[in-house]
Amino acid sequence: MVQDYRNFVNGEWVESSSGEMTEVINPATTDVIGRVPKCNEVDVRAAIDAAREAFDRGPWPRMTPGERAGILLKLADLIQAEVKSLAVLESKNQGKTIKQARDGDIPFSVDNLRFMAGAARALTAAAAMDYGGTATSILRREPVGVVGSITPWNYPFMMAIWKAAPALAVGNTVVMKPASYTPVTTLELGRLAERAGLPKGALNVITGPGSKIGPVLVGSPDVDMVSLTGDTETGREIMKEAATAIKKVHLELGGKAPFIVFDDADLNAAIMGAAAGGFVNVGQDCTQACRLFIHEKVHDRFLNGLLGEVKKVRMGDPLDEHTDMGPLVSKPQREKVENYVALGKEEGAKVAAGGERPTGGIFDKGFFYKPTVFIGCTPDMRSVREEIFGPVLQVLPFSTEDEVIEWANNVIYGLYASVWTKDVQKAFRVANALRFGAVEINDHLPLVSEMPHGGYKQSGFGKDLSIHSLEEYTQLKHVWVELTGEARKGWHYLTYGEP
Ligand code: NDP
Repeated sequence: MVQDYRNFVNGEWVESSSGEMTEVINPATTDVIGRVPKCNEVDVRAAIDAAREAFDRGPWPRMTPGERAGILLKLADLIQAEVKSLAVLESKNQGKTIKQARDGDIPFSVDNLRFMAGAARALTAAAAMDYGGTATSILRREPVGVVGSITPWNYPFMMAIWKAAPALAVGNTVVMKPASYTPVTTLELGRLAERAGLPKGALNVITGPGSKIGPVLVGSPDVDMVSLTGDTETGREIMKEAATAIKKVHLELGGKAPFIVFDDADLNAAIMGAAAGGFVNVGQDCTQACRLFIHEKVHDRFLNGLLGEVKKVRMGDPLDEHTDMGPLVSKPQREKVENYVALGKEEGAKVAAGGERPTGGIFDKGFFYKPTVFIGCTPDMRSVREEIFGPVLQVLPFSTEDEVIEWANNVIYGLYASVWTKDVQKAFRVANALRFGAVEINDHLPLVSEMPHGGYKQSGFGKDLSIHSLEEYTQLKHVWVELTGEARKGWHYLTYGEP
């Protein structure tokens, strides 16, 4: 059934002022599963006004951290109670497998939310002290204000939580714009937030084309901070737009993760790690294990093992319990992957597996693409240095530690990397030399609510998850309190006025 959604603004469910709607597609079947409002500038301004009013005069920023935590924990419980139905909706809209949505993304989001709700009660700043002798200093961590949150289509619900949870937990109000391909579970988040008792205007969800309404949200003087997860190019646009008002930005952008396997590594673990880290979410993951640097001594054995794993990947209907890989999110995303596969071939790499669309049955309808492995790649190829964001792994042999560090770092991105070896000194040496925001040793992919996730270089700046994410959504205020009440003892009279 095709459901007509509305936007959530100022605690009410509203249509766009133009009445226009956009169809939402299931990428596995290309069926229309819903329609969402196509917002314009007027609608964005209404959402910003609601968030502004809620921040300037509403109860949310004025509640104690404990009171806010109570509401966010209730929201977490409501999400948990609906994990199954949310997972089905996420799977139908994004194309990810039901296993991943139900057992991964949504429960992890619940955990993230619970962490943020509790951790916001324990935020710290430097100790208070009488640094000025006759005055005491304290630091306050205050919310930034109205936050514009712009989310991508690869993990729609999880990214909505990664942005809304820390922002709300510390007392900001939020205008959230989900990606146009995958808006429905974020609108469901609005519904659950309303049930949890979030005051009106604290969280607003609007849908519409990012290229049109994004700049309105980013440029508005009433929005104090913008947080994006998306393409590096979009991050650049947002930085330019935000510069006018010197606005705080938080950017989680692209990635091209190196996966470095030394000759002393547990090869079976590395092979399974590469397949899981490479094909998860059909490779549409900024931490995807995609540049597989394999020591020349174990290259052939690793490759044989990897090709064996590729044969085991079960593609198909994402709602089937047994499916490991569904479709790509959209037709343009599959075309992008196909263009990069063609480029890889032109550059001299060889397809060892996949490299084409599967055919027959559901495959003829949806945006499916086979798990693909390229061999004979070199670090300077464009297809190896640029983000593909699809199920394409590139295998590159290496011989020395110095060489692989240089090659791994030789991209504009710096989000995530992994090192596979049993030699603890080598593992630490390489981890320290890699210019990435996260390096995992003998693992690739796991994230936890307590530890930060975020990039170096053109992968952006600002951390998601962890206490560091909460800090991103605050600003520090220094309050100086003169203690004596004797004006002449004040600092300025030492240098001003009569001796
Ligand atoms: P975008 O960066 O365009 O989309 C991310 C979000 O930004 C969406 O909500 C989008 O809205 C919005 N947006 C787009 N343009 C603007 C703008 N000018 N101002 C403000 N917001 C804007 O990514 P794409 O969806 O186009 O994907 C392109 C590529 O980006 C992918 O192929 C992939 O390589 C990479 N990507 C990386 C992600 C990551 O996690 N690092 C996540 C998603 C994509 P709308 O959907 O309406 O266009």
